[in-house]
Amino acid sequence: MHSDCYCRVCGYGLSSPPWGEDGSTPTWEICPCCGTEFGYEDCTPASARRKRNQWILNGKKWFENKERPADWDWDRQFQNIPDSYK
Ligand SMILES: [Zn+2]
Repeated sequence: MHSDCYCRVCGYGLSSPPWGEDGSTPTWEICPCCGTEFGYEDCTPASARRKRNQWILNGKKWFENKERPADWDWDRQFQNIPDSYK
């Protein structure tokens, strides 16, 4: 998987880079896990952290609950978040 193919907020593995192949063309799609709109809440490390903290406080609810794996592990997924956005 492409190293940029993870949500900057929650680390969810995506089928395509949320900010495009050039890293600066957001898709404006919605993360199935945390509900971030790529290009909006994840545009800076500070805004990504704010969104992540809100999402955690709200119980880490999946935006698309049917996509949630039965053995989903937040601590493992967290490792996928790009270091500069952690
Ligand atoms: Zn996400």
